Amino acid sequence: MIVQDKTDSTASKYSAASELRDLRSLTYEEVSGILTGWGHKNYRTKQLLDWIYKKRVCSFDEMTDLSQELRAQLLDAFRMQSLECAQEQISQDGTVKFLWRLADGEFIESVLIPASIGQDGKRSNRHTLCVSTQVGCAYGCKFCASGIMGYRRNLEIFEIVDQVLSVERWKHAQLLESSEHSEHTLPNGQALVNNLVIMGMGEPLANYLNLTKALQILNAPWGLNIGARKITVSTSGLVPEIRRLAEEPQQYHLAISLHGATDDVRSQIMPVNRKYPLAQLIDACEAYQKAKGRMIWIEYILIDQVNTGLEQAHALVGLAKRLQCKVNLIPYNPVGELEWKRPSDRTVAQFRDSLHRNGVRVTVRMEKGQDIDAACGQLRLKTEQKNKLAI
Ligand code: SAH
Ligand code: SF4
Repeated sequence: MIVQDKTDSTASKYSAASELRDLRSLTYEEVSGILTGWGHKNYRTKQLLDWIYKKRVCSFDEMTDLSQELRAQLLDAFRMQSLECAQEQISQDGTVKFLWRLADGEFIESVLIPASIGQDGKRSNRHTLCVSTQVGCAYGCKFCASGIMGYRRNLEIFEIVDQVLSVERWKHAQLLESSEHSEHTLPNGQALVNNLVIMGMGEPLANYLNLTKALQILNAPWGLNIGARKITVSTSGLVPEIRRLAEEPQQYHLAISLHGATDDVRSQIMPVNRKYPLAQLIDACEAYQKAKGRMIWIEYILIDQVNTGLEQAHALVGLAKRLQCKVNLIPYNPVGELEWKRPSDRTVAQFRDSLHRNGVRVTVRMEKGQDIDAACGQLRLKTEQKNKLAI
C-alpha cells in the first residue's frame, strides 16, 4: 500500500467558503441562459463547458479562447474551487482511495476501482469510481463507518461532479509525469472513468435534487458523457425516492442495500427498515423495474451470526425470485468498535450455494483494496478520529 498524506491540520484557509455559485452545478441550459443574458453568442456555452468537462481546467484564466471580458464576468459571478486531495491510498490491487477536503474543512471519499481481468482472461476497459453524496450519513446502519460518524451535510451538486473531474485530473497528471501526452487530454481524448457507482459516503436518495442534477451533468454529452446505464445508484431503501427516481427519464441502474431478508433481522442492522419495511421496499423496487425495464441488484453484507442463517437465505431466495434480480454477497469488513465479525469462508460459501441451488444469480464480491481503508467511510472516520486526538 502507498499512502500519501497531504493533510494540513491548520485548515484555516478553508474557513471562508465563497458565497458564489460554482459553475459545475449548472446545466447547459442554465449556462447558456446566463451567457446570452450577458450578450454573448450561444457558441460560447459549448466553448466554456468544453474547458470544464473535456479539458478539465480548474480556473477561468486557463480558458484562453474566451474573451478577457467574458473571463472577467465569470470570475465576478462564479467560483471554481476544486476538491483538495488530503490523502491518497494506493492498494496493491490498483484500487485508489481519495480523501478530499471540502471548502468548509469537511472530508469525503471516492474510490477508483481499476479494470479487472474478465472470465475470458482479457483485461476489461472498465474504470469504476465510487462517489460520495453526503458528509456522513443520518441513517445509522450498524455496519457502516459513515453511519457511525452521523450526518453533517448534503454535498452540493459541484462537489459530487468534481469527484469525477478531480480523479480525471489526477490520472492526467500521472500520465504527464510518465510520458509526453498532449497537454489537456488523455490519449485519444478519452476520459478514464466510464462507470460510476453512487455507493460512497451518504445516502444518495436523501440528497435527491443535488444527486439527480449532478447525474444529469455527469451523463450529458456536453458534460462527462458517462452513459446512464453505466451509473448505479445504491440506496438503503428510501421508498418515496425510489418511486420518484423511477419517473426520471434516465435509465440509471438501481442497487438496494438489503442486508437482511426479514423485517426483524433487517431492522436490527438498518434502522431505516422500521420506516420502510420490506413489503413497501420490494413494491417500490418492482415499480422501478417496471418503469425502466432494468434489473435491480441486491447488495447483502454477510455479518457472522447476524444475517447468515439458513432462514435468511430462504427468505432472500423468495425476495430475489420475486424481483428476478441478482444478489451480490459482500463479506462484512469490520469497522469501528462493533463486535460484529466477518463470517468464515465456509459460511460465505454455504450461504452462496443455498441461493445458487434455488436458482438465484449470486456473486460474492471480494472487496477490492483490502489493504487500504476501502469500505465506505473508513478513511474519513480514521482521519476525523486522528484529528480529534490531535486537538
Ligand atoms: N447509502 C447507500 C450507499 C452507500 S453505502 C446505501 O446504503 O446503499 C453502500 C454500500 O457500502 C453498502 O451497501 C455496502 O455494500 C458497503 N459497505 C459499507 N460498509 C461496509 C462494511 N463495513 N463492510 C462491507 N461493505 C460495506
Ligand atoms: Fe448511510 Fe448507506 Fe452507510 Fe446506511 S450503509 S449508514 S444508508 S451510507
